[in-house]
Amino acid sequence: MNRETFKKLVFASANKHKAEEIQSALKGAAHICLPSDLGHEFSVEETGQSLRENAALKAEAAWNLTGLPSFADDTGLFCDALDGAPGVHTARFAAMAHYPGSNNALLLKRLKDVQVRSARFESVFCFRWDEGMVFFTGILEGRIAGVADGVGGFGYDPVFIPQGFQQTLAALPMHVKLGISHRTQALRAMQAWMEAIQSL
Ligand code: IMP
Repeated sequence: MNRETFKKLVFASANKHKAEEIQSALKGAAHICLPSDLGHEFSVEETGQSLRENAALKAEAAWNLTGLPSFADDTGLFCDALDGAPGVHTARFAAMAHYPGSNNALLLKRLKDVQVRSARFESVFCFRWDEGMVFFTGILEGRIAGVADGVGGFGYDPVFIPQGFQQTLAALPMHVKLGISHRTQALRAMQAWMEAIQSL
């Protein structure tokens, strides 16, 4: 292997914002493109029973479309008091419960008056290349706030307080979130693996 092995990588997603975030974390180590940048329409139904299965479905689809080393991520929020829900259904939590409000509103409602508020974000990255698939995981421990707070970030950030902090991810400066996030940790593990492979 050499330093060119993973020079161009496909991020199996339609989310340009995430791709930019990942590109800036990888700096110049690799050039990230989306399937759409290569002229492919990319839409994969996330039918897996786990984050790992969903990440694998997306990475495999991008690999089949482009023939280039491809990776995908899948993230879930796991709450102890809810037996791990919303978990693999994190994106569709309210929709699956036919709840008319937002995911965050439903989560706060389910945890109203519940003492056990511990939860964690988990991100799984699947990297698909010509030697198979490799998985990387990042976990951010924390707790669910009593009320939503903050305007930064996205998704469940306004209701998630990371361990060691008193504010939600949405109230913390973005660079703090990016320094500790589940996605950052999984990405760092993937980056370390790529560097190790390329130095063989
Ligand atoms: P995805 O796998 O990145 O598409 O995320 C699945 C669900 O988790 C979506 O509802 C996202 O809004 C939520 N999510 C993923 N990452 C984060 C995060 O860093 N903060 C808050 N919510 C997130």
